[in-house]
Amino acid sequence: MRGTVLYGPRDIRFEDREDPRIEKPTDAIIRIAATCVCGSDLWPYRGIQKIAQPTPMGHEYCGVVEEVGSAVKTVKPGQFIIGSFCISDNTCPNCRNGYQSGCQNLEFMTRAQAPMLRVPLADGTLVATTEMPSDQIIPSLLAVSDVFGTAWFAADAANVKPGATAVVVGDGAVGLLGVLSAKLMGAERIIAMSRQEKRQKLAKEYGATDIVTERGEEGIARIKDLTSGIGADSVLECVGTEESMMQAIQSTRPGGSIGYVGVPHGMRLDVWPVFFKLVHLHGGPAPVRRYLVDLIKLVLDRKAEPGKVFDLVLPLEQVAEGYRAMDERRAIKTLLRP
Ligand SMILES: [Zn+2]
Repeated sequence: MRGTVLYGPRDIRFEDREDPRIEKPTDAIIRIAATCVCGSDLWPYRGIQKIAQPTPMGHEYCGVVEEVGSAVKTVKPGQFIIGSFCISDNTCPNCRNGYQSGCQNLEFMTRAQAPMLRVPLADGTLVATTEMPSDQIIPSLLAVSDVFGTAWFAADAANVKPGATAVVVGDGAVGLLGVLSAKLMGAERIIAMSRQEKRQKLAKEYGATDIVTERGEEGIARIKDLTSGIGADSVLECVGTEESMMQAIQSTRPGGSIGYVGVPHGMRLDVWPVFFKLVHLHGGPAPVRRYLVDLIKLVLDRKAEPGKVFDLVLPLEQVAEGYRAMDERRAIKTLLRP
């Protein structure tokens, strides 16, 4: 088969790779229905995160089980599955506490931007649907694998409650789905921080009540204006820079909560100004496995359409253009079809 490999900054190739095969009895082999490019893939793509050698890419996936190892019990060939980007056993103490992204046997998925994929710890990582989904709903199911699951965790970690005010920092796909997650959790006022018209429009479709285009001190002042002068109950940080984190901290009311899911880059958190803000901070790689069953149900019941964030669909072999379009912010998120 051919798959996606990153060789260096802005050098994505779609080239021959070995077919995946069962290596351990707990593995499954998946025929990918759809995969996509993640905002976090752009860090190594831009050379900000160094890679030591050519690296197979992709960690968001859904598709049909082709083969399973002898120890796999919960999924079988022919079933449609969605899996988390974190590979987990779902049985260790951390998994049982709902933190599968802190699993004692944690691995991070790679190699998913390919037609076939090996998933280790299949029982702990994958969830099968009861029926074969229609082609048209596949983008929304794919979104559950990471981008929607991560956004949901951001809202959950930010303790969004019915009637709450929420601020979303970041208008990438995770931020936009953070708006949707906050809406579904019952937030009454949802303030999206975005400067791009296309993204503002989708944020409003997903439930944003206010758009703030300003950043820094001006952005904080606008948030305070909209929240009785104190800041929001819940703030979702969906970027991962020091600037966005400080934006989030300054936008939260005393006693409020921040869910941060942007993979941190170049961030040095100075605790001194944070100390006096009296905020809760909770974040990290999302334990998507905790939410998979519920989020799949929301999608299949047509109560959420997270797949709207995919505004560019390409055949998998054009993956390099998919990266370029996101790098240049021409696309919010690229979906790839083998
Ligand atoms: Zn575990």
